[in-house]
Amino acid sequence: MKVTATAAAADLAQIVARARVLAASVTDPEIPVITLEDLGILRDVQAVPFGEPNAQGQQGFIIEITITPTYSGCPAMDQIRDDILNEMDAESIPARVKTSLAPAWTTDWMSEAGKLKLREYGIAPPQHLSSEFSSSNVIQFAPKSIASRAVNTPGKAQFSSQTASQNILCPHCSSDNTTETSHFASTACKALYKCLDCLEPFDYFKPY
Ligand SMILES: [Zn+2]
Repeated sequence: MKVTATAAAADLAQIVARARVLAASVTDPEIPVITLEDLGILRDVQAVPFGEPNAQGQQGFIIEITITPTYSGCPAMDQIRDDILNEMDAESIPARVKTSLAPAWTTDWMSEAGKLKLREYGIAPPQHLSSEFSSSNVIQFAPKSIASRAVNTPGKAQFSSQTASQNILCPHCSSDNTTETSHFASTACKALYKCLDCLEPFDYFKPY
């Protein structure tokens, strides 16, 4: 019986691994080029005991996929949950989706690959860490001399120059000669920018 249990555990591990691949590849309904893995909203995939053991004492399992919404009340999350479950259904993997609100998602969780895909899609990815937000606000009101010194400090340059909200890189031509035309674009998480060099408008995925 021990061998059987080990074999079952190996099978289960395989199913979990497969479920992880499937869930990770589900794409954002609003930005179809980036996956849940790119967004960093796929938190966990594991097998959890489900139901009562059968007559042979075998415990059933269900694959539990944990995701964290990009922002609370995000309507895309229902679609994402359905998409995940459809993927699992297609391979007859019993699954459920669990939503985890804490810790809250931030754009910091977005992968570098995801940011690259956003740019290729024509959306400027978040250019600085959400955790730097508070620092940037402080710098904004600092004397100019301090601010310019901060610009010369590696690692700080990005957020201190961000405060002017003027150097979001254009995803089309990479110019930093851009300007915000609307703080809210197609969705609340994006701002509308315009490139003053190539004159193309573009969405900027705001750090959150
Ligand atoms: Zn441009």
